[in-house]
Amino acid sequence: MTKLTDQSLLKTASYWQGEWHDADSNFEVINPANGDVIAKVADSTATAAEKAVAAADKAFAGWAARPASERSELLLRWQQLLLEHQDDLGLLLTLEQGKPLAEAKGEIAYGASYMQWFAEEAKRVYGDTIPAKSGDQRIVVIKQPVGVVAAITPWNFPNAMIARKAAAALAAGCTFVVKPAQLTPLSALAMAELADRAGIPAGVFNVITSTDAKAIGDVLTQDKRVAKFSFTGSTKIGKQLAKQCAGTVKRVSLELGGNAPFIVFADADLDAAIDGLMASKFRNAGQTCVCTNRILVQQSIVEPFTEKLQQAIGKLKLGKGTDDNVDIGPLINNDACDKVDKLLHQALAMGAKLHCGGKRQATDSLFYFPTLVTGVNNDMAVAQDEIFGPVAAVQSFDDEAEAIALANATDSGLAAYFYSRDIGRCWRVAEALQYGMVGVNEGMVSNPTAPFGGVKQSGYGREGSKYGLDDYLDVKYLCLGGLDK
Ligand code: ADP
Repeated sequence: MTKLTDQSLLKTASYWQGEWHDADSNFEVINPANGDVIAKVADSTATAAEKAVAAADKAFAGWAARPASERSELLLRWQQLLLEHQDDLGLLLTLEQGKPLAEAKGEIAYGASYMQWFAEEAKRVYGDTIPAKSGDQRIVVIKQPVGVVAAITPWNFPNAMIARKAAAALAAGCTFVVKPAQLTPLSALAMAELADRAGIPAGVFNVITSTDAKAIGDVLTQDKRVAKFSFTGSTKIGKQLAKQCAGTVKRVSLELGGNAPFIVFADADLDAAIDGLMASKFRNAGQTCVCTNRILVQQSIVEPFTEKLQQAIGKLKLGKGTDDNVDIGPLINNDACDKVDKLLHQALAMGAKLHCGGKRQATDSLFYFPTLVTGVNNDMAVAQDEIFGPVAAVQSFDDEAEAIALANATDSGLAAYFYSRDIGRCWRVAEALQYGMVGVNEGMVSNPTAPFGGVKQSGYGREGSKYGLDDYLDVKYLCLGGLDK
């Protein structure tokens, strides 16, 4: 493996109670760009997960009792260390996940930005006083951390999906246990190492690595000591885990799959729309839950739009994330490539037209050519399933009402985008789209100041923004009586 400047950021054991814990067996972490084994990581068991929960439970009271300003300072220290080690952390992330190095470093900065944001928000957990019904009473509302938070995170953002949750949890005064995706545990473990160096107390941030997602998930969703469960991943697993949480009535946040429409009206600035689309479609090789899945283009501009889009796609460079100037890295694994291929070929069989790409670089290669297909319709699986790959699938519509109806014809409701220069239309469409996030003449909407999250079957709960702490706080009402005696 390419050497890190600080080799001690490469950790291979689970981390709880401020200590590293090996397991009886290990699993391999594979570089998707070349199939190399990067590291062998502890395959921890349910017993380990219980120990991590116990550590978080033990640390909770002390952490919650720390003044918010102290928690804030520790989070800032952690953030600074992430930025100081951005090159190493970015390299580690590219090696295990595949995305181009510039994007990986961008993810580290993005993750760190949530730590900074919530370090600031920690100091602003305000309560309320409410006029009481009777003169001898006073009503006061305070906010308190919910307790131990458990999280399960996906492989597409191995750093940021953890940072986004942990920063909010720790800022609120909660302690945290995370099971990262089996495919990308190294970024999570490097974060634990830096949490340790930052002086985050033992038991406050814990990481369990494992191939047995179900066994670990059972503990994290069913242990009574866990007060809140936060999940980012597929809709199917999210639904199952939410059910498991019902047994102990845990607070739950879910950030599940999307099926983002990207609508281009005839009155749009086409070049701006192409720029926004390229960012939203091809980032991370199309493997994000807010990636454009369906490109809806008004009939009268389909031809010029397709031409411009094909030109832009033609400029994308496919290659190893560690090579220079690469735009698109490998997909995460063989199943991901097979899924993309299947969706595309179903669409072609149903009459869609291929303009470029449409295959892997070589048999068994995980590098999939950026692809453009037109003549898609909402009945095709490519429009209904999350593609999670570099396939731009274009369909057409006649008028605004049809665009809105097509865009909303899905069970998902995470992100949507549209381009128009008409201010009235911008308001109408923004309000009509049944999505948690809408980019209006904008293809990248995610940042720590804004609430990230979905509606419908894309989940509930918000990450980032002034709303982001709410998921980690209980509202407590104090009624002070007998004041006239
Ligand atoms: P994806 O298809 O993107 O991998 P998943 O929902 O399968 O999405 O995975 C997201 C996270 O959920 C990963 O950390 C994975 O290990 C975990 N996971 C998968 N299946 C289960 C399960 N049955 N119980 C708990 N966690 C699971």
